[in-house]
Amino acid sequence: MPPCALAYNYPKPKSPTVPFASRRKSVTTWVRGVPVGSDHPVVVQSMTNTDTADAAGTADQVAELFEAGSQKVRITVNNDEAARAVPEIRQRLTDRGLDVPLIGDFHYNGHLLLAKYPACAAALDKYRINPGNVGSKHRDANFTTIVQAAIDHDKPVRIGVNWGSLDQDLLTQMMDANASSTTPRDAKDVYMDAMLESALRSAALAEEVGLAHDKIIVSAKISVVPDLVECYRRLAARCDYPLHLGLTEAGMGNKGVVASSAALAILLAEGIGDTIRVSLTPKPNGDRREEVFVAQQILQSLGLRSFAPQVTACPGCGRTTSTFFQHMAEDIQGYLREQMPIWRETRPGVVEMKVAVMGCVVNGPGESKHANIGISLPGTFEEPKAPVYVDGKLFTTLKGDHIVKEFLVILDRYVDRNYKGGVD
Ligand code: SF4
Repeated sequence: MPPCALAYNYPKPKSPTVPFASRRKSVTTWVRGVPVGSDHPVVVQSMTNTDTADAAGTADQVAELFEAGSQKVRITVNNDEAARAVPEIRQRLTDRGLDVPLIGDFHYNGHLLLAKYPACAAALDKYRINPGNVGSKHRDANFTTIVQAAIDHDKPVRIGVNWGSLDQDLLTQMMDANASSTTPRDAKDVYMDAMLESALRSAALAEEVGLAHDKIIVSAKISVVPDLVECYRRLAARCDYPLHLGLTEAGMGNKGVVASSAALAILLAEGIGDTIRVSLTPKPNGDRREEVFVAQQILQSLGLRSFAPQVTACPGCGRTTSTFFQHMAEDIQGYLREQMPIWRETRPGVVEMKVAVMGCVVNGPGESKHANIGISLPGTFEEPKAPVYVDGKLFTTLKGDHIVKEFLVILDRYVDRNYKGGVD
């Protein structure tokens, strides 16, 4: 059976590890086959960085992100060539058996493109509108045209306000009103409220035009963690639209990962957020799927969802001067990730599995015993043997040059035995 969007609705873990606040109540917005709202698991999404006009290259990256577990994928639709390519991208994905919800990201000319290319409007599953970027002269008219296209094609929209492209007229009005107030507030406070006003007034206008209440998802992205948290807290209190969370322009490497994790973890722990995207800047020719893996890891680390078996590995220290166990942990993590597209379909429950790879006898056996399956490698000057524990009991002791290979065979057998799901 081809993978479809619903196949990626991973199970909730059996017992959340932290007693977080319950989810803020929001309506459900369906994006193709994926429900977004508080009655459903938090959805992971991502965005391509290919030129959308390159239909083959974009379809390849969409497929790659989807297969990595991105339940919705956004593509930029910025000009005629991109709009013309969208139906071909959809067709290429369909030909590969991939039922991916595709979101079109529109700025400045979305009203023109959606009207001029109805096949593009039909092929997309959601339109992202930034009210600050629909044109300053005919803002409401352009916005209304996009909303009307969504109504005509029965699509939901995301009203996505961004700190860097806020509606300047609205901001000026609110700043002026604040300046003439007898008790003026801090400018940042007013800026944040202007973001919320922009999002919520736009949502109200969309509903006035005729878009259903449950066809609207809202976001208000900022690049500073405390401000983002505050902004979403206020937004969450003022509406019941599903909220898309993301730290905009999170950045590269550790900074992007840590800042996104910090921001999203606080909000998710407060029950805020129905779909998340981690906006990482990839290295040149870097792996775009990284943002999907980070988003999944945030949800799994919080105990909110499970996506893949988790590898517990010790950090290493002077007791294990060789890099053997680091390579082994990496190889096992990579192996588990590679197996997930197949295991998702055939090995239900495997996402809950815990694997331990430890560097020496100090914590190795103890940690391994707490995992489903674990190995404790020999530290420096320790006897060159590696005990393997299965469900807390010593299963065997590996020696020699093929420890990794032999451990993966034991791991595979464990998965086959314990996560059958009716498939042999
Ligand atoms: S398990 Fe051993 S090698 Fe790993 S950090 Fe602890 S003492 Fe060091």
